[in-house]
This record gives sequence, structure tokens and C-alpha cells, in this order.
Amino acid sequence: MNAKHILIVEDEQPIREMITFALAGVGYEVREAADARQAQAAISERLPDLILLDWMLPGISGIDFARRLKKEDLTRELPIIMLTARAEEEDKVQGLESGADDYVTKPFSPRELVARIRAVLRRGGPAAEDEILRANGLSLDLASHRVSAGDALLEVGPTEYRLLEFFMSHPERVYSRGQLLDRVWGSNVYVEERTVDVHIRRLRKVLEPFGYEALIQTVRGAGYRFSTRI
Ligand code: CA
Repeated sequence: MNAKHILIVEDEQPIREMITFALAGVGYEVREAADARQAQAAISERLPDLILLDWMLPGISGIDFARRLKKEDLTRELPIIMLTARAEEEDKVQGLESGADDYVTKPFSPRELVARIRAVLRRGGPAAEDEILRANGLSLDLASHRVSAGDALLEVGPTEYRLLEFFMSHPERVYSRGQLLDRVWGSNVYVEERTVDVHIRRLRKVLEPFGYEALIQTVRGAGYRFSTRI
């Protein structure tokens, strides 16, 4: 079993070391950061399974950093447990809105912290990501068949949905009209190749108000490609 990897973001060194000691003792892999900048660098290097984030940090506050992480595609699903001091407890609601998954109030016992970490990791987090295809801010939920751009839900017809699902699960490759007919419509169906163009046009029209139509690119003489690179 792979050890879960936890990033601790806390400016007070004694607390950080106490947490590291406690978590390493129960088998977690732990990395430390003293502020949001160090944390960002650590995340870029390797995505942790969970972040313990102190509320009061020098520079960017824990709440602002949590908000930022929840906006990025890469870190949106990353579970966050906020570490707060007693006096800040009344601000919990504000913290919830920042996207934190749970709270632990200082002072806490290592045992309490480990219990909360286990509970949050059990809830899922990045494991659920397989169900959702993402590209920039566009996401397609395979379970609910919903397509959304940020918070907005898109009205996508059934053929356009299948086309988009195919594209998003096969990005950065060119497919000819014939290949798209085979893969999206099925090889037993007789449809003219220009039908593909019609549905591509409809799909682009749905994506256009959100600025995502450029993800579906025409490759002259070859076909179409879904790409986040322009
Ligand atoms: Ca602090």
C-alpha cells in the first residue's frame, strides 16, 4: 500500500514538527512548508493527497490560499484541513466558503488530528476525479452526463455530448471525419461525413459563450482535434 502523502503548511516550527512527528509515526509521508509560497512550490513538485493548512500564515493567509487551490483544475479536488486557533472559531463559516473540507482547532491532540485526516481521506477527494473529464475550466461529468463551464451548466445535445466526451478522453490527437463517425456514431451506422461537421458546429456554438470553442480545432486536410494548446 502506498503511504498517503500529506503537506503541512504552518509557520510555527514547533507545531509543524509536532505534526510531522505524529503523522510520520502512523505511516504518512509528510512534507512541510512554512508559508503559501513554499506550499505552492511543494504542490507543483508533487501533488499531495491532503493539505493541513494553518489559518494564520505570514503573507497569503490560509483562507486565501485555500480559495486559490479550489480554483485551480489541478488542486480543486485536493482535500484541505484548516488548522485554526480558538479565537478564530467564529470565522469557521468563512473558512467553509473557502472550500476547506474540515477544521481542527488548536490546541489539538495528535490522535484527534490523525482521526480527522483519516475521515477526510475516506470521503474520497482525488479518487472521484476519474468520473470527471476536465480541460481548462470545462468539465464533463461521466456519471451525471453534465457539462459545465465553471459554475454554469451547458445545454448539450446527446450527439454533441458523445462527441465532446470522445474528444475530452482523447485529447491532443487528430481524428478524421471517418474515424469520428466510427468512434462516436458507431461503425454500423451509415452517416455522411459532413454530418460530423454539422455536430462539430453545434458543439462549438454551445461552447462559444464560455470561450471554449477554440478547444475544438479544425486540422486542415486531416480532421479535428481537441486541444488546450492554441
Ligand atoms: Ca500560524
